[in-house]
Amino acid sequence: MEQTFIMIKPDGVQRGLVGEIIGRFEKKGFSLKGLKLMTVERAFAEKHYADLSAKPFFNGLVEYIISGPVVAMVWEGKNVVVTGRKIIGATNPADSAPGTIRGDYAIDIGRNVIHGSDSVESARKEIALWFPDGTVYWQSSLHPWIYE
Ligand code: ADP
Repeated sequence: MEQTFIMIKPDGVQRGLVGEIIGRFEKKGFSLKGLKLMTVERAFAEKHYADLSAKPFFNGLVEYIISGPVVAMVWEGKNVVVTGRKIIGATNPADSAPGTIRGDYAIDIGRNVIHGSDSVESARKEIALWFPDGTVYWQSSLHPWIYE
């Protein structure tokens, strides 16, 4: 089954959105396979966002991610990478539809509350980076009520 890496950014934690965000993924039917509250070092944040290192906003982005605790998660389910991005909404909250997390809870692109992997390949890399000791193996007893 497909997995994705989801991170509630420091603004999402500070604003008390952890329960709301986890609830949206849970209620959709996705399964939580890894969860931790942590602060990250600058070098770690730079590694996570290495693909964006040439962007003018890179330093500000790294400062933002290291500015407070984040919630790192692994969610599992059919098409969870693409569907997770739909639940999150567009990168710029100004373009995110109401009903999405960013559409409902964010205004500025540099304070957009949540990260989600943008492909199965980046999910694999991000899960390996954030959960080097692996995730939790279990299967929800709701499985037959969610999948046909
Ligand atoms: P996404 O998080 O939707 O996958 P990107 O990978 O393009 O988007 O960018 C990573 C993060 O960098 C965004 O979520 C946002 O916090 C920040 N970011 C992107 N573009 C800008 C920008 N133009 N100005 C400030 N921050 C930005």
